[in-house]
Amino acid sequence: MTKIAIAGCGIIGAILAYELSSLDPNSPDLEILVIDRQPPARASTGAALGVMMGAISLKKAKSRAWKLRRDSLDRYETLIPELIAKTGRSIPYNRHGILKLCTSLKPTLEKWQTLAAERREQNFQLDILTSEAAADRFPYINLDQTIAAVYSADDRQVEPVPLLEAAIAAARSQGVQFDFDGRVESGLTDSDRLVGIRLRRSSGAIETVDLDALIITAGAGSAAIANDIASEGEPLNIVNVLGQALHLRPKSPIDPSTPIITRDDIHVVPRSSGTIWVGATVEFPPDDDGNGLIDPTPDPIPDPQGLDRLMATAKTFYPALEDADVISTWQGMRPRPVGRSAPVIEPVAGLTNALLATAHYRNGVLLAPATAQRAIDWLHAL
Ligand SMILES: Cc1cc2nc3c(=O)[nH]c(=O)nc-3n(C[C@H](O)[C@H](O)[C@H](O)COP(=O)(O)OP(=O)(O)OC[C@H]3O[C@@H](n4cnc5c(N)ncnc54)[C@H](O)[C@@H]3O)c2cc1C
Repeated sequence: MTKIAIAGCGIIGAILAYELSSLDPNSPDLEILVIDRQPPARASTGAALGVMMGAISLKKAKSRAWKLRRDSLDRYETLIPELIAKTGRSIPYNRHGILKLCTSLKPTLEKWQTLAAERREQNFQLDILTSEAAADRFPYINLDQTIAAVYSADDRQVEPVPLLEAAIAAARSQGVQFDFDGRVESGLTDSDRLVGIRLRRSSGAIETVDLDALIITAGAGSAAIANDIASEGEPLNIVNVLGQALHLRPKSPIDPSTPIITRDDIHVVPRSSGTIWVGATVEFPPDDDGNGLIDPTPDPIPDPQGLDRLMATAKTFYPALEDADVISTWQGMRPRPVGRSAPVIEPVAGLTNALLATAHYRNGVLLAPATAQRAIDWLHAL
């Protein structure tokens, strides 16, 4: 019997647990245990908009960043129907693409054309539109400040919480065990192997769990775990980048084929229920007078004007929001690695059987399936 522990049950841990258990459901030879310090959807994933900026991202064809995006987009097309079929749950999945409104010529139209040609070779469709062509095709958008638009037919948006819950339910039905009352605090090593982890229960009790392999998918909490168990290398530093968002009800029904509309880093996300999400601000932690980050880095404090600015911009390009009612607002944190690019998918320094699969910053929902594939490849190579 092989025992694999997954530390952290956000979208990364949950999709990994599902994919891993799908290889050999309810196998008597494999025990998969997912441990979290709290019930699901309370951390980053619970705040996400689920927009998948994949084909439309300016990532080079040979880069790791693009390959992760491509693999995730591919897998989502089968994963969502599979999870729906296995659980009977609904997972809202917007397949109407992403429309990006460009308000400057950075990047230049030439660069977009080059990207479109590159994506075509990879079987992804990007249409570069003049603002007149975009106005014809998307008459409900105000294109006053738009120079050009890029429509990506193959990018998607998924509602993160129903997806997370379905992945957990499906994984559970395939034999995965979930423990939502265990803060992973430290590890027990035997030379270059991790042999166990210590959990702190909400009661304060400490418990030890033996294991054969550990995958750390604890978002912002991953650094503390990894730095405790690593026997060498530089400490990992993950900071939180705050995002605020709104949930709105427009006065009139929205066109059901509306894509995700994005401008100046602000997404308007039409939902199948007829309401709309608008988000999100990107608010960094404070630094210590420009002399580098404070250690440990405090979380950012939400900008009190953040939501007003978000709404003011969103209304300029999507006028249906003009008289919309605000149903709710929320904020959440994105786990961002310091001094390196997101995500961090690599073994914990000095250990052969512990992997970091974390710090996905702004794209954890998008990158979850590809991250799971990479983690499974690593397990197979053990
Ligand atoms: C406002 C906002 C909008 C976003 N929009 C998008 C978007 O449109 N598209 C997109 O792809 N991404 C988006 N993101 C980013 C996305 O939410 C994250 O990248 C993703 O959720 C990270 O998933 P995760 O599983 O790594 O982390 P989390 O969801 O944070 O899960 C980590 C889990 O680990 C647990 N944990 C932590 N420490 C420990 C410990 N010591 N022991 C046990 N458990 C522990 C936590 O309780 C938590 O449940 C957005 C984020 C925000 C805040």
